[in-house]
Amino acid sequence: MRLVLLGPPGAGKGTQAQVLCERFGIPQISTGDILREHVQEGTPLGIRARAFMDRGEYVPDEVVVEMVMDRLEEPDAEKGFVLDGFPRTVPQAEALERALAARGRPLDAVLCFAVADVTAIARLTGRYTCPTCKRTYHREFSPPAVDLVCDLDGTELVRRSDDDDLTAKRRLAVYREQTAPLEQFYRERGLLLEIDAEAPKDEVAGRAEAALEELLERRA
Ligand code: ADP
Ligand code: ADP
Repeated sequence: MRLVLLGPPGAGKGTQAQVLCERFGIPQISTGDILREHVQEGTPLGIRARAFMDRGEYVPDEVVVEMVMDRLEEPDAEKGFVLDGFPRTVPQAEALERALAARGRPLDAVLCFAVADVTAIARLTGRYTCPTCKRTYHREFSPPAVDLVCDLDGTELVRRSDDDDLTAKRRLAVYREQTAPLEQFYRERGLLLEIDAEAPKDEVAGRAEAALEELLERRA
């Protein structure tokens, strides 16, 4: 199964990616997570990317495309993948399409999670992440059992520096301007599944599963 997750920051892409990855036994490829690892390790790529990320703007296409192409070459991506946060621009989508066509393995579907801006902001500004397993929590909507500690591995949870109100709003504006056109790009290719993500996460997961099953049945 080869899937792309679209949707504004805070829509729940990372949360739903984990559900889909477990269900299909495929890796989650999150460009945000890979970039943050580079930043933390201080690699040349991380040093270049950081300034863009701090401002809530996109890292240049050529940097992200090369990073994803390398990741797709790894053996675990043979059986499929969930791309979370990539592509985010039309040139990125075109590069992905070309690379997958060259391998004769095109995308199966693009799930687009829709939420209103107020919902996205409320989710981002209350988000806490486990630096070890990358699982996310929310202060109000899905708190950990013990305050500020990951349920799975006991690591202390952190807040992302770009989840402050101002940067979150900037990221949303950048999404509407640069990434929203991808919805039409994938609609034209018959790949887009629009999911209303204004519901608790289990309900959203159910909607995503139903939409995916319906698409696969139609194709069969
Ligand atoms: P969220 O899941 O909240 O939308 P991400 O973790 O996916 O945020 O991304 C964090 C930041 O990393 C983005 O604001 C951007 O600076 C950078 N980034 C991630 N993916 C891409 C991409 N495909 N193209 C350009 N920049 C990206
Ligand atoms: P994205 O990857 O799209 O930026 P995340 O999956 O990181 O989004 O979710 C953003 C925040 O919202 C996290 O704190 C997460 O726990 C919370 N969240 C995710 N899905 C839902 C939902 N359906 N209802 C309420 N909160 C949610």
